[in-house]
Amino acid sequence: MSGQKDQASKQSWQCCKCKIPMKTGKVRITYMGNDFTIELLKCPECGLVLVPEDMAVRKMLEVEKSLEDK
Ligand SMILES: [Zn+2]
Repeated sequence: MSGQKDQASKQSWQCCKCKIPMKTGKVRITYMGNDFTIELLKCPECGLVLVPEDMAVRKMLEVEKSLEDK
């Protein structure tokens, strides 16, 4: 085999730290004082969550707050 990549066939997101494919999983976030459980792409290794850009601006702020609160 000649180390060729075939990542064009399927769009998969990689964790920027671990370089492994992210998997869909339920993630608990806090938004407007309420807890939500939504499905997002999550790294099975380090737990990094991928949030779509349009959601990221608003929701990641809340997620960060809830993480700081631990
Ligand atoms: Zn990772």
